[in-house]
Amino acid sequence: MTKQRIKIMVGDITTQNVDAIVNAANNSLAGGGGVDGAIHRAAGPNLVKESLLLAPCQTGEAKTTKGYALPAVWVIHTVGPIYHRHSPDKAAELLAAAYQNSLREAVRVGAKTVAFPAISTGVYAYPREEAAKIAVQAVADFLRHETSIEEVRLVCFSEDSAESHRAALKNMLG
Ligand code: ADP
Repeated sequence: MTKQRIKIMVGDITTQNVDAIVNAANNSLAGGGGVDGAIHRAAGPNLVKESLLLAPCQTGEAKTTKGYALPAVWVIHTVGPIYHRHSPDKAAELLAAAYQNSLREAVRVGAKTVAFPAISTGVYAYPREEAAKIAVQAVADFLRHETSIEEVRLVCFSEDSAESHRAALKNMLG
């Protein structure tokens, strides 16, 4: 029931045909590099105008804007932890919170299909396999109690990243 709503794929999050995509943003919500830059380029200049009105966004929290030129109706901006700034336990807590607060935002705006990038696994240097386990577990824990979300896509940017997520989903208990 829960696991079936989680889809793991390799792709570009900016082209996903879903109600909401999640942006791995930074606290300033001013745009940046990596997936954040790609989302801002694809959405067009109105995205940063709206996101700056909502700034700052604390690590682990999430804020929603429209998707503008993107296929997605909404962009949910969340901020994952910079791995080395926290203890491993605290980093895990913040990463899980980023996923779950993003899904809370999706429910709030009525999004039924949501796509995530692998938050914090780029410049923020979260170890890939550890991050994949936390991502899959956090999403599954949320979906267990929330039936309005029909599909969560974990959109990986490499086959290695997708493999880590597939393994985490397979090994997940419950
Ligand atoms: P963070 O600062 O949270 O680490 P990054 O943007 O540096 O964010 O990286 C997060 C993840 O997003 C990385 O795994 C990176 O490979 C991936 N990524 C980069 N561009 C895209 C994209 N267009 N679609 C999906 N994932 C992407």
